[in-house]
Amino acid sequence: MSLVLGLVTGSFLNVVIYRMPRAESILSPPSHCPVCLHRLGIADLIPVLSYLWLRGRCRYCSTPISVMYPLLEIVTGLVFWLAFIQYGWSAQWVVAAVFGALLIACAGIDLQFKIIPDRLTLPGMVLGLVLAMVGFGPGIITSILGVLALGGLLLLLGVVFTGGMGGGDIKMGAMMGAFLGPGMAMVALVIASLIGAVIGLILIMLKKRDRQEGIAFGPFLAIGGIVALLYGNAAVNWYLGIWM
Ligand SMILES: [Zn+2]
Repeated sequence: MSLVLGLVTGSFLNVVIYRMPRAESILSPPSHCPVCLHRLGIADLIPVLSYLWLRGRCRYCSTPISVMYPLLEIVTGLVFWLAFIQYGWSAQWVVAAVFGALLIACAGIDLQFKIIPDRLTLPGMVLGLVLAMVGFGPGIITSILGVLALGGLLLLLGVVFTGGMGGGDIKMGAMMGAFLGPGMAMVALVIASLIGAVIGLILIMLKKRDRQEGIAFGPFLAIGGIVALLYGNAAVNWYLGIWM
């Protein structure tokens, strides 16, 4: 059930990722093919299955549909399901699902457009603070410290290494801090940096991009945030266990 909820949410996130950077309304008009503009029916909108059934093409004009759409639905489904394994049906699961959905939307938009919209990160940060204030999070003080710690650190990195961190990354970091608190936010940053460094090296070795070219950091922050939320404590204990 949590998997299905995640698949459906992922389908909605695809709409957000497509429309928000284009300044289109999320709710209207109804879903349509971006090429032939034909309105999509229920049978075209079933997560993953429609894509497989239609063999990755628009039913009406046969334009290939990006494999990113079903992949993002599957990723969202997995995150919702892993959160369910961790928390069961609980308020914590809802918070994890909302946090995961926000991060996936940021990552998807950053991958395609190299921006992370304030319209996602700023309300997301406020939501994280409010949830912490009413008891669904790390506590309001910890939450505020998280915003200052990760937002501040990314801001500092952005100032020191010009062109390193964009404003979008900084605000996304602040949002993550609100949900995670300073300790887990740092765990998230370490995980994001490690994965980012490995992927960056692989891309340079494959000569897919040269060193100067910037790499979108939002997707790595998103992975770091989700891993820190679900497995942060386990990761810290494992790491300490190596040394003790
Ligand atoms: Zn079409």
